[in-house]
Amino acid sequence: MPTTSSKPFSYEALPGSGQVAYFSMEIAIHPSMPTYSGGLGVLAGDTLRSAADLGIPLAAFTLLHRKGYFQQHLDPDGVQTEEVQPWNPADFCTEEPARITVSIEDRVVTVRAWRYDLEGRFGHVVPVYLLDTDLDGNSGWDRGLTDHLYGGDTNYRLQQEIVLGMGGVRMIHALGLNVNVYHMNEGHAALLTLALLESQVGGGPLGAATKADIEQVRRKCVFTTHTPVPAGHDRFSTEQAIRILGGERTARLEKLGCFRDGLLNMTLLALCFSRYANGVALQHGKVSRQMFPEFTIDTITNGVHAATWMSAPVQRMMDEHIPAWRRDHLCLRNAIELPESEVLAAHARAKDELLSEVASCAGVVLNPKALTLGFARRAATYKRATLLFTDPERLKKIAVAAGGLQILYAGKAHPQDEPGKALIRQVIEEAARLSNDALRIVYLENYAWDLGALLTAGVDVWVNTPRRPYEASGTSGMKAAMNGVPSLSILDGWWIEGCIEGVTGWAIEDGANDQEEANSLYAKLESAVVPLYLAPPERWARLMRTTLAFNGSYFNTNRMVKQYTRSAYYPVSLLERAKVEEEVYVD
Ligand SMILES: *Cc1c(COP(=O)(O)O)cnc(C)c1O
Repeated sequence: MPTTSSKPFSYEALPGSGQVAYFSMEIAIHPSMPTYSGGLGVLAGDTLRSAADLGIPLAAFTLLHRKGYFQQHLDPDGVQTEEVQPWNPADFCTEEPARITVSIEDRVVTVRAWRYDLEGRFGHVVPVYLLDTDLDGNSGWDRGLTDHLYGGDTNYRLQQEIVLGMGGVRMIHALGLNVNVYHMNEGHAALLTLALLESQVGGGPLGAATKADIEQVRRKCVFTTHTPVPAGHDRFSTEQAIRILGGERTARLEKLGCFRDGLLNMTLLALCFSRYANGVALQHGKVSRQMFPEFTIDTITNGVHAATWMSAPVQRMMDEHIPAWRRDHLCLRNAIELPESEVLAAHARAKDELLSEVASCAGVVLNPKALTLGFARRAATYKRATLLFTDPERLKKIAVAAGGLQILYAGKAHPQDEPGKALIRQVIEEAARLSNDALRIVYLENYAWDLGALLTAGVDVWVNTPRRPYEASGTSGMKAAMNGVPSLSILDGWWIEGCIEGVTGWAIEDGANDQEEANSLYAKLESAVVPLYLAPPERWARLMRTTLAFNGSYFNTNRMVKQYTRSAYYPVSLLERAKVEEEVYVD
């Protein structure tokens, strides 16, 4: 039956009308707020920036992280030490008067929120609420619960997750927000489902929750999983769950099937309570379905926020030739027609900016004409930062053939990740051993937002060497593409979708072991990358144009947020239901 409603469609008209609440343990909100550690937080921030640009009714919840993640220091031997990054919330945020409490172990902990208003390009605001337990009346321990991102042990983590998930839901009520979709960005926020269930049963005992109560919660929740690495999924022992969450909640979670191998699994909890779940690249969706075969898991491939990651010189060029790109990122496809000389000039400016940062930070003067590779990301072992050094003699020969080769590294290892720290030491040792007149290798300290932007825009080729299939998506190569910088990468994560050989970059072919994949990496440098770099520069400019046109126009968070809106937040099935309910109401 066709609908006869004359009212224009609005999201607010949905059943239980309201907005989306987006929950993430880390969000890169502002370059000077140390509230993120890496790709997950940057993705969350880019999601919110696009939601603000697109006018999506959405509010975000995270923890304040008063002492940040950490500032990285590297000594000459590559030994990493960490320093806290205290910051002043009042410099960026407004304190909300609301106070709520959560129960942790046998304590009642009071929580407040600081609001940061993220404004989109047409003035739409996405508020970010940063939860904070540093309040008089809380014990010294509890006051520190929102200090450290990914700090402490699993007891600390589970208590933080209570503040984020359960505290967040209660804060939504205290703030008077009207929310009809709860998006869990990774499993850290999965306990929000418990708070919703408790509120569904009127705060009464969870044992009384019926199937219909659970279905009511499921109708509101969506979930994105972000890693195929089992250790990346939060798990807690039964003893911890009983002690920290309480016996009744733990029993309920056990009954619902949220335990695997005797551990409370936050991914399972989120999946159990979500009407929609997704992975973050086509292959990652597939791997996630294999990990959790009893659930339906869709895919929405990640993106990056174009205006955040495109360098100023490239933005100026785009504004001049394709001004519509800001309004509609599909127009980035027209980069295919940019004048070659301007593409080269814009990139040269971005490269100069990067090299002057290298000079001032590392005291190393590099050659702006020399082929420059970038490799920067968390120093996790599966990313294999040292694969490039598998055959040092071959690498040196490539450097000579290229008339000079420069490799820029950066990345932090989690403070408790000893193998990751060993990788950094190894890269720095190799850099000292191999660097000569033709080959320069520099490890830059304290990889974060600003340095990431300079690197992805300023290098000539972005390199990525993960061990398959552990890279869920990866986003730094998308930032490079947004600047026309091609990738040379293992076919894992987003690159399976993004690689068009010789057009957006090059694939390192799958091998049986590290040695074989390193061979393919060298072969691609020798046979494709170096010859093209030494060819007349217009040919390199054409590669940059096709990279920006094909991959900038697709791997952006505007496209991604639109997909979340239509597939996860307000899918057609829900919109249909909204229409039917409206008709019934009108009748
Ligand atoms: C984009 C970004 C990442 C993610 O990099 P991947 O290569 O996708 O893992 C990590 N850290 C920072 C600071 C970033 O800006």
